[in-house]
Amino acid sequence: MNRLSLAALCALCASPASALDIRIDPAPLYVFDASPDRGVADVVIQNILIVNKERRARDIRGLRVELLAKGEVVSVVRIPAATIAKRAEQVSQYDKAGLLKMLDFQFHLSRLLKEGENLSADTRLDQGEAYLNISLYASAPATPDMARIIVEGPRGDIASRETSVSRRQSTVKYRSPVEGRWFVASSADVAHHHRWVVSSEYAIDIVKMDEDMRTFAGDGTKLASYRAFGEPILAAADGVVVAARADRIDNEGMLRKPGTPYKEYEVLVAEAQQATLMTDGFEGAAGNYVLIRHDGGEHSLYAHLKQASVIVKQGDVVKAGQMIAHAGSSGNSTEPHLHFQVIDGPDLNSARGLPVSFEGLVEDWFAIGPRHLRAGDIIEQE
Ligand SMILES: [Zn+2]
Repeated sequence: MNRLSLAALCALCASPASALDIRIDPAPLYVFDASPDRGVADVVIQNILIVNKERRARDIRGLRVELLAKGEVVSVVRIPAATIAKRAEQVSQYDKAGLLKMLDFQFHLSRLLKEGENLSADTRLDQGEAYLNISLYASAPATPDMARIIVEGPRGDIASRETSVSRRQSTVKYRSPVEGRWFVASSADVAHHHRWVVSSEYAIDIVKMDEDMRTFAGDGTKLASYRAFGEPILAAADGVVVAARADRIDNEGMLRKPGTPYKEYEVLVAEAQQATLMTDGFEGAAGNYVLIRHDGGEHSLYAHLKQASVIVKQGDVVKAGQMIAHAGSSGNSTEPHLHFQVIDGPDLNSARGLPVSFEGLVEDWFAIGPRHLRAGDIIEQE
């Protein structure tokens, strides 16, 4: 063997068999107060990408996530090989159909996958092939401070990675973004849609109700008959308006007509909303909106606003409690309500949702205090 080939051989030896590359996005992870009085917190790991950087093919036989609190494992979730196989095939089909590119606000593959890397359609990862695991949910009987992601091979664990978990505390003080008593129809509760979407993971949908807990009068086919429609929307904290739009129509056609079976209505809504996401991404789903920047780079988003109702513009300085628009039903909205969320940056298609607590709410119906809002809460500013 001459000197040259020896050097080439040693260059290979210099990079020892590295483990699979495990990438998590978004990270670090934040818990939601699933049931703080019972000590239960939960976490969604939105995207885990496992990439094989070695020449040797690797077979993934399982994916395990351990949640740890003070060094002790408090929860384990395991995804078996059969599920991984099914998901790999599904995700690869989405990829081939171009859906992953369109839904980049959710999968973040534009930053997760590097040049020359591709998704595998099965559990075998050849060099440069990756497996994307979406929406892994875990709850724990204690607030975890660490998550360990472990990849299992045919003969035991083959790679692992840790990422921190915390109950995030914002430095921004948020008040209710509306006046009067409103009902939290949907939150980050795991049973609801927000939780599974990166940017709106901790969002709330709030509606206004009458004494009979109805959100509308009459048959509900007119936007104007909804209690929330046209209600003032307020800045939830001091800040600067960084984006606003008010040119989209309010979707009267998306209201459920009396007599339409719920199953049928669900399909109708799902198809219409997917179409919006495909063409305009998360920004389109928000309809008319105002985005306000606060201290520390946090932004609050007020979505589905009434057409032509936004009274602030980019660059305006706003005070907490100041009126900025009126509630409507634009974008992916099935009835007038306010969708409120806090995100970590100004780009609606790449930002991540942040957990939020409100200050100064009336203690009524349920005591809320500092915990995250959940569906069923009634909020009213003191
Ligand atoms: Zn919403």
